[in-house]
Amino acid sequence: MPRLQGQALLRTPSNARRGDVLPHAVASDDRGNVPCVPSKRALIIGISGQDGSLLSELLLSEGYEVIGVVRQSTSTRFENLEPIRGRIELHQADVLSEVSLVDVLSASEPHEVYNLASPSFVPMSWKQPVLTAEFAAVGVTALLEAIRRVDDGVRFYQASSSEIFGESREVPQTEETPLAPVTPYGVAKAYGHLITRSYRRQYGLYASSGILYNHESPRRPLDFVTRKISHAAAAISLGLKSEVLLGNLDARRDWGYAGDYVRAMWLVLQQDEADDFVIASGQTHSVRELAEAAFAHVGLDWEEHVRVDDTLIRGKAELHDIVGDSSKAREQLGWSPRVDFDGLVQLLVDADVERLRSRAEPVETLADI
Ligand code: GDP
Repeated sequence: MPRLQGQALLRTPSNARRGDVLPHAVASDDRGNVPCVPSKRALIIGISGQDGSLLSELLLSEGYEVIGVVRQSTSTRFENLEPIRGRIELHQADVLSEVSLVDVLSASEPHEVYNLASPSFVPMSWKQPVLTAEFAAVGVTALLEAIRRVDDGVRFYQASSSEIFGESREVPQTEETPLAPVTPYGVAKAYGHLITRSYRRQYGLYASSGILYNHESPRRPLDFVTRKISHAAAAISLGLKSEVLLGNLDARRDWGYAGDYVRAMWLVLQQDEADDFVIASGQTHSVRELAEAAFAHVGLDWEEHVRVDDTLIRGKAELHDIVGDSSKAREQLGWSPRVDFDGLVQLLVDADVERLRSRAEPVETLADI
C-alpha cells in the first residue's frame, strides 16, 4: 500500500479529473519512492499576454498542467511564451463564442480557469469601445455560462481592474468601494466584475475577482508609460535615441511588479471561499518620479530628454487618486509585494538595456514610440 504524505493522489497528471486531486500532495510507497507528483490543471484564457505568460510560469513551477487559450492561430509565435514553449498546451477559442468555450472546457477539464482575456491599454478603449465591451464584459458572461454548463465545480478567476473605481470618492479603495468607472475600459471591466459576483451569488459558482492596480514587467507593451520610459532611458543611454515624448507628468499611479501580482491571482483561487481582493502596492508615484528614477538608473538627467506632448494628455479621462488598500489580501491571502517601486524601475530599465544591446528589439521601431 502506498504511504501517503499529505493527501493521496492515485491518478497521473494526464488522467487526473477535476476535483480529485490536490496540488502538492505526494504519495510514496513503502520504500519511500514517489510514484507520481499530482497536478492540478489550469486553463488560462488570454495566456499570451504579460500576465498570462507570467502566471503560466508560476503555475508550472507549482506543478500544474497549464493549458492556454488564444484567439489567434496556435501556430502564431507568441514571444512571451518562448521560455515555456513545449511545457504548455495551446487551444484556439474565442471568448465571444460560448460554443468554443464549452469545447475547450470539456476537452481540458480544468480545476482552475483564469480569465485574462481583454484589451488592456485604456486609451485604446476610446477608439474601440464596442470591441472592448465585447471582450471585457460580454466575454466574461460567456465564460461563466460555459463553466456553468460544463462543470460548475471549476474555480474561476476574473481579472478585475482598478479602472472600475474611476472617479472614486474613497481614497484608498477597498473591496467595498463603490464602482465609478469613467473610461469604456473601466465600464466594461466593472460589468465583468459585477457579473462574476452575480454568478457567485446566484449559482454558487466559485468565482473570484482580483482587483489589480497597475502592474508592470519587461513584457508590458511599449504603449504603457512604464515601458515607454524604461525603453527610452535604455535607448538614449546607448545612443540610439535622444528624447521621448510624454503626456501628463503629474499623473500618479499605484504601480507594482506583475510577477508579484500573478502570485496573488493564484492565491485568490486557493481560498476556501470565492471572494474579491484588491491587489495593490498602496503607494502612488508620479510619471515624473518614474522618469527621474529610470533615467538616473542609467546615469542620465531625465529633464534633458523628456518633452511633453499635449496630445498625450488624457484630460477628463485621466484618473486621479487611484490607490489600493490591499489589507484584505495581505491578511487573508498572506500576499505582499516583493518588488518595490525603485526595484521595479531598475528591473524594467535593465531588461530594456539588455534587449537593445542584444538587438532583440529592432532599432527602427524606436522612432515610432
Ligand atoms: P493605465 O493606468 O492603465 O492607463 O496605464 P498607462 O501606463 O497607459 O498610463 C499611466 C499614467 O501615465 C496615466 O495617468 C497617463 O496619463 C500617464 N502618462 C503620461 N504620459 C504618458 C504616455 O506618454 N503614455 C502613456 N501610456 N501614459 C502616460
